[in-house]
Amino acid sequence: MGASRIASAVNAGELSAKEIVAAYLERIAELNGKLNAYLHVDSTGAKKAASTVDDSVSRGEKLRLAGVPVAVKDVISVRGLPITCGSRVLRGYVAPYDATVVDRLKRAGAIVLGTTNTDEFAMGSSTENSAYGASRNPWAEDRVPGGSSGGSAVAVSSGMAAAALGTDTGGSVRLPACFTGVFGLKPSYGALSRYGLVSYANSLEQVGVFARSVEDLALVYSSMLGADPRDGTTTNFSWNIRDAVTKGVEGLRLGVVVGISGEGIHEAVSSALSTTCKELERNGVSVGEASIEHIGYSLEAYYLIAMSEASSNLARFDGVRYGEHPAFEGDWNEEYSRVRSLFGLEVKRRIILGAFALSAGYQEMYYGRASRFRTMLIHEFREAFKQFDVLLAPTSPTPPFRFGEKTQDPLTMYLSDVDTVPVNLAGLPALNVPAGTFTTNGTTLPIGVQLIAPYGRDDLLFRVASQLERSGVSFARVVEPWGRIV
Ligand code: GLN
Repeated sequence: MGASRIASAVNAGELSAKEIVAAYLERIAELNGKLNAYLHVDSTGAKKAASTVDDSVSRGEKLRLAGVPVAVKDVISVRGLPITCGSRVLRGYVAPYDATVVDRLKRAGAIVLGTTNTDEFAMGSSTENSAYGASRNPWAEDRVPGGSSGGSAVAVSSGMAAAALGTDTGGSVRLPACFTGVFGLKPSYGALSRYGLVSYANSLEQVGVFARSVEDLALVYSSMLGADPRDGTTTNFSWNIRDAVTKGVEGLRLGVVVGISGEGIHEAVSSALSTTCKELERNGVSVGEASIEHIGYSLEAYYLIAMSEASSNLARFDGVRYGEHPAFEGDWNEEYSRVRSLFGLEVKRRIILGAFALSAGYQEMYYGRASRFRTMLIHEFREAFKQFDVLLAPTSPTPPFRFGEKTQDPLTMYLSDVDTVPVNLAGLPALNVPAGTFTTNGTTLPIGVQLIAPYGRDDLLFRVASQLERSGVSFARVVEPWGRIV
């Protein structure tokens, strides 16, 4: 059952939150050993929260997310649960408070089952950078689930959670959603609070949502919306997401972004794009080609900006305030080096490159130019949106890749983000929708495409996605390892 059905069954008294939680915990016990989606499962807390929800419902209270079991990426604070960011540096650290998004989910009756695996500090595209081992893609044993929010994507696609939170700095919700065949939303910048999120690159990232249907996504997303005094970048939007789901698409103008992936686009992805266009045309959408002239420079600009911000953000992990810090005697430099050496290779690389890009003499050449490019890209998107209501692009140039395939050369790993990063640079909302499958040597893999809307028009994504769902192009199902669809 998805989030919406669970909430209505619990509110109607047909099922108890306790029963739901017990079923999900059983599923986790059965599958998590294989899939490594959860880093920490909070059975006691989940059962307790479930009985609180059941009590409220029996008193006649209606809760929007009554009994909905959710998973939370291990970079978002859940009070009383460990938060490691997939890193050894934060081993043993327990979140002292709830992130605003988590607090709002709990108030709506959702139940946090646990925290999910991620590339260390959300830096990566496959979960292979996690200090706690990679997560596995339930579709195929030898394929990555995408990253960095891979654990959350796997939890939703394998039925170990009804919905999940991730973060998307450069694609970390959309890419794993695409690789595991579920819906994954990156909201407009400022739509969801980042209070309680461990920052990687503040100007780029947003909390995002995974779900197995558009309705579920709308339900969970709308429960967290609304400005937060604790995050000054948040704002209120006037649309009602749940109305958008029923609105239809007639008369909308869709622009297919050309040239976003360069030349390396897989044929299964191209054919998913054309199926999507055809289906929307059949429903009264006009389709054209959108050219965003300089989009091809986005990856370079993204990595310069992301690494610069990361080098500054990660300076706070010095072992004094966060993580395990056994009492030490002796030299401060030695202790500091010991703590900082707990970072993994990729994180170290980014701290060093980011510090370099910001250093005197180079700042203008790297960070400054990337920032000016960013402004130009925002203008180019704005121009494109004069002609089109919604844009369509690949989420990934290829289907899910194999473990180890891209770990030797960091550049090849960065290239898997080529389609997702422009959206973060421009602060736009975007949504991965499943768009069919691709079979190779007996292995079936999911394909996804992304819808992109103007800033603050997340509602348009939901209108188009729910049409695709109604037409049968986009649907997500629970997948048993390895690849058996329920
Ligand atoms: N793969 C990208 C990176 O490593 C995006 C990560 C993310 O969105 N958190 O920076």
